[in-house]
Amino acid sequence: MRVAVVGAGLFGATTAVELARKGHEVDLFDRHSDIMHGASMANCARLHMGYHYPRSPYNGMATQAAEFAERFPDAVVPGRHFYVIPKQGSLTSPEQFLNFCTLHGLPYRTWRPPVVRSDVALCGQVPESLIDLNAVRTQLHGELRGVRLHLGRRFCDAPDFDITVLATYGQGWPESLRYEVCEVALIRLGVHFAGHSVVCIDGPFGCIDPLPGTDMHLLYDVVNSVHAANVGRAPEIPEHLLSLLDCGVVRTAHTRVQAMLQTARGFLRGVGMPEYCGSMFTVRVVLPDVEATDERPTLIRPGERVIRILSGKLGAAPAAAREVAAMVREAVPVG
Ligand SMILES: Cc1cc2nc3c(=O)[nH]c(=O)nc-3n(C[C@H](O)[C@H](O)[C@H](O)COP(=O)(O)OP(=O)(O)OC[C@H]3O[C@@H](n4cnc5c(N)ncnc54)[C@H](O)[C@@H]3O)c2cc1C
Repeated sequence: MRVAVVGAGLFGATTAVELARKGHEVDLFDRHSDIMHGASMANCARLHMGYHYPRSPYNGMATQAAEFAERFPDAVVPGRHFYVIPKQGSLTSPEQFLNFCTLHGLPYRTWRPPVVRSDVALCGQVPESLIDLNAVRTQLHGELRGVRLHLGRRFCDAPDFDITVLATYGQGWPESLRYEVCEVALIRLGVHFAGHSVVCIDGPFGCIDPLPGTDMHLLYDVVNSVHAANVGRAPEIPEHLLSLLDCGVVRTAHTRVQAMLQTARGFLRGVGMPEYCGSMFTVRVVLPDVEATDERPTLIRPGERVIRILSGKLGAAPAAAREVAAMVREAVPVG
């Protein structure tokens, strides 16, 4: 089968490799000059097991994380990971969170490290990991040797292919989606934060995560990191942020790092005034109207000679690639 994969983010690149391994003739397109140049590089790099989403009915994340770890073993970075419920404002109570963990077999050891404030309602350690996205990209670069790469090229039409896989993170999705222009800031916290990842849930809170391979932390918060949002068929990007999107780490006057730090001080001790190293900006795509559950499933939608992938979480990429390969196997070649 001749397959065009559009979008060389984690999902498109992983799918292209899987299809080539199954014997298909694969062309991979991206408008960027390298693979994993979009949201797949500008995120919080957490290999989710499900703790982050205690209101979601969707709970396949632990299984997906295990499959991801098997697929990209050198990219999985363990560390000290803590989930915190604040005294006020959380949409999930400590009891609900602990019940959720028990129900889904997610280990949670109640324990508070010195970097977490003593006035939180609940704090505990979990066996989650981070993803070294550079290591993933290096592995994929090696595996893509059997795939024809077309980088720096926006893909418009696919007359020469039996099937087109759109792994474009919400571009060309048949229904309305929610698009959020997000900032992830990079900061240098004190040495006492080394290796510590802390997520404060559930609602308008935030997180810090070590950036693998560096002495920096990623800083994100649900309110201040989202610079703009719209529901529709394409993102509406404010003029002043256009040049900042998907171009790696940039230092900009438009950063909201100070507001994000203020959020972090609400659940962390000893934040002080860390060095600001820059920010990454990208568009996040989520389902609209899921505020009640905050669910983040990965959707795969087959159509007429086209298969669309809408990614939810990074850990789902190997499973999505497998599923797409199974659909392509069943498809009938054109002509
Ligand atoms: C701020 C933020 C934090 C996040 N944190 C986490 C986290 O900690 N853990 C987690 O699991 N997930 C997280 N996510 C979600 C995760 O990053 C995404 O689900 C995932 O990276 C999307 O991968 P993708 O391959 O689908 O999309 P992308 O990586 O965006 O790739 C899509 C590619 O399609 C290309 N493209 C689009 N249209 C065309 C076209 N017409 N022609 C050519 N190329 C085209 C784009 O250039 C892009 O490179 C986060 C997301 C954001 C934004």
